[in-house]
Amino acid sequence: MTALAAVRPTAGVKTGELLKPSWADVVDIQPEVEGISTLWLRFQDPSLRKEYRFLPGQFNMIYLPGYGEAAISISSDSEKRELIGHTVRFVGNVTRAVSRLKTGDAVGIRGPFGTHWPVEKLEGKDIVIAGGGIGIPPMRPAIYHIIRNRSKYGKITVLYGARTPADLLYTSELDEWRKSDIDIQVTVDRADSNWQGQVGVVSMLFYRFRLDQTRTAVLTCGPEIMIRFVVFEALARRVPTDQIFVSMERNMKCGQGSCGHCQIGPFFVCKDGPVFPYSAVEPYFNVEEF
Ligand SMILES: Cc1cc2nc3c(=O)[nH]c(=O)nc-3n(C[C@H](O)[C@H](O)[C@H](O)COP(=O)(O)OP(=O)(O)OC[C@H]3O[C@@H](n4cnc5c(N)ncnc54)[C@H](O)[C@@H]3O)c2cc1C
Repeated sequence: MTALAAVRPTAGVKTGELLKPSWADVVDIQPEVEGISTLWLRFQDPSLRKEYRFLPGQFNMIYLPGYGEAAISISSDSEKRELIGHTVRFVGNVTRAVSRLKTGDAVGIRGPFGTHWPVEKLEGKDIVIAGGGIGIPPMRPAIYHIIRNRSKYGKITVLYGARTPADLLYTSELDEWRKSDIDIQVTVDRADSNWQGQVGVVSMLFYRFRLDQTRTAVLTCGPEIMIRFVVFEALARRVPTDQIFVSMERNMKCGQGSCGHCQIGPFFVCKDGPVFPYSAVEPYFNVEEF
């Protein structure tokens, strides 16, 4: 359990009420790609607007009356909290209702919940950030943090993949990130006729650069199969298990470790995760439906 100390929030996270949603207005809706938009939310309560804090990798429960709640990671900058961004893929009951929201509508927010990418503890290190599909939004706040504190980190490599070029998120930001001396490698599963980049899975991108296992941490989020292969490549390069951090997704209900919907072995993803040091979850990793 002590391995989890690296990712547990300590000071600095100021939440709303955890059981009761706090209301927030939809200030802007940014369509990202087909079926995915970023919702920009502002708390109606001015004091909450000032006091709310979150850490990169944490999530909120977004509540739509009549539909229910869904766990959605915060995809915006943790230092800019007037508007809070959530990048949502429209897959089911709640998220399809999110797709029908208009600016000026209100949603409930509970949170922030969960553990975080331990970006401060990783100062001085090289970092590989490997994200796939809707796995990149929870990693974006970590990238913003690193960019803001760029001189405190060594080599930063972002490995990013999507199914097709049309599914790539945040493409207009990638050049900005490159300007902050971040090596960004992008790949798609299936190219179209205009695509000139890499084709293949995210883990394949490990073959395109060298890492120094004595000073590298790997952060990864995305489809579970992608996470498994990223971990495999990191371990093959002898990155220590406590320097690999995985963000796990599980069907979630209460957000507080009470209902058991999101259990992995002895852990609750909502409370002990979503970000885990691989060393903590390794025993459950190769178990079907772990
Ligand atoms: C910590 C965490 C962070 C998340 N961050 C984001 C995010 O930033 N953006 C985003 O779009 N989604 C995110 N999700 C996923 C989102 O919470 C689920 O897709 C949620 O079920 C959507 O609610 P819904 O009512 O629209 O879909 P539902 O009606 O609940 O389900 C739609 C379909 O997805 C399946 N499903 C439900 N939950 C999950 C899950 N957790 N993993 C895999 N399959 C599932 C269901 O079995 C069903 O087939 C996150 C989930 C977790 C646990």
